[in-house]
Amino acid sequence: MPQLASRVLTVSDSFTLKLNAQVQELQKSGVDVANLTAGEPDFSVPEVSKQAVRQALDLNRSKYTPVPGIPQLREAIARKTNLQQPSTVSASGEWGAAQVVVSNGGKQALFNSMMAVINPGDQVLFPAPFWISYSEMAKLVGGVPVVITTQFENSFKLSAAELSVALDSSPRARLLILNSPCNPTGSIYSAQEFRDLAAVIARHPRGKDLWVLSDEIYDRVTLGQKPFCSFLQACPELRPQVITVNGMSKAAAMTGWRIGWTVAPSDVTAAISTVQSQSTSGINALAQWASLAALSLQETEFAEQIEKYRARSRLVLEILSKAGKLKVVAPEGAFYVFFGVQGYLKPKESAAQLCESLLREARVALVPGEPFGAPGFVRLSFATDEATLKAGCERLVSFLNSR
Ligand code: PMP
Ligand code: GLU
Repeated sequence: MPQLASRVLTVSDSFTLKLNAQVQELQKSGVDVANLTAGEPDFSVPEVSKQAVRQALDLNRSKYTPVPGIPQLREAIARKTNLQQPSTVSASGEWGAAQVVVSNGGKQALFNSMMAVINPGDQVLFPAPFWISYSEMAKLVGGVPVVITTQFENSFKLSAAELSVALDSSPRARLLILNSPCNPTGSIYSAQEFRDLAAVIARHPRGKDLWVLSDEIYDRVTLGQKPFCSFLQACPELRPQVITVNGMSKAAAMTGWRIGWTVAPSDVTAAISTVQSQSTSGINALAQWASLAALSLQETEFAEQIEKYRARSRLVLEILSKAGKLKVVAPEGAFYVFFGVQGYLKPKESAAQLCESLLREARVALVPGEPFGAPGFVRLSFATDEATLKAGCERLVSFLNSR
C-alpha cells in the first residue's frame, strides 16, 4: 500500500466541526440534543449581502477574481482596519488595498500566513487555552507548536512574564499568535496588556525575528463595557512584524460564505498572495461581492445581534451559577462560556469523558477542553437560540448536581 504523507499522521480533524457534524446526525435521527458545540452564529446574513449576490449574478460577475481579491473589497477591508488601528495609521500611514489578501475564511488566512513565514522546525507560540486549529496548522506547515500555559486567575490571558519565559526557552520562535476576543475563553486583552507583551518582544534579543499574528475575528462581539482593542492600535511600533487576521464568519454570520483576510506589510502580503495563487486562487467571486455589501453597513445595523449575544451570555451565566462547583471564566467577548468541571469529575474521569456522559445521559453537547489545551475545562457556545440554550444549560446543571 502506498503511504500517506507523514504530515497528516500527526494532525487531527477540527474537533469542533467533527463533533458538531456528529451531533447534527444524532438530531437528524430524531434525538433531541441541545447542541452547544459550534461557534456558528444562528443569525441570517445581512439582506444587502443577499441582494449583492443576486446583482452579481445578473451582471455575470462569475469569472476568476484577482488572487488577493476584488479591489473594492480589499479597499473596504483596508478602510475598516484603518478605523480600528488609528495609532498605526498615524505612526506609519494608512493600510491600502495592496496590503490585504482575501481568503477562504479566517482559517485560510491563518494557514496562508503560516505558510508564508514558517520554515520547517520553526516554533509557533500561542497561549492555552487556544483555538483548536492553531496547533494543527502549525504542524501542517512543518512548524512546531509551543503552547504557553496561562492562569485561570488572569482569565487565561498571556502575561508579559509568561511570554518572556516562553521566548527565552524557544530558540526557534518565529510566530506568536494572539486572539482577542478569545475562542474559547471569551477574554479580551486591554491596550495596556498588549503593550506589556509588545515591550517584551521589543526587549528580547530575538524579538525582531518574531512575527505576531493577531486573530481578531471576534472583534464585533463584545459582551460588556470592555471594548475590543486591535493589537496594532495598542502597539503601532510593531507594524512591520504584525499580521492581522479577520473575516466575515462571526461579524456578519457568514460562516458558509468563507470570507477571511490578512492585513500585513507588503512583503508578507505578496508572499501570502503567492501561496494562495498556487492553492486556491482568488476566492468565490459572489461571496466577495456579498462581503463588500456587508462591510458597507454601519455598526448600528448589528446592535440588535450584539444585544442578543449579551442577553444570552447573562442567561447562561445565571443558570450555570446554580452549579456552585464550576470554575467559570466570565466572558468579555466572543460567544463562548468556558468553565472548569474539575469539581464534578469522578476519579480518573476527564472532561472529555464527562462530555460524553452528558451527551448520552442528558442530551447536551459541549466541547471538552482537551483539544483547546485545557484539560478539566469545557466550552459552551451560546451562538444559538434562547430556547435551546436555556434547555441545554438547565439539563447541564441538573446533570452536574446529580453527580
Ligand atoms: N479564528 C478563530 C479564533 C475562530 O474561532 C475561527 C472559527 N471559525 C476562525 C479563526 C476561522 O473562522 P472562519 O474560517 O470561519 O472564517
Ligand atoms: N470556530 C468555530 C468553533 O470554534 C468553528 C469550528 C472550526 O472552524 O473548526 O466552533
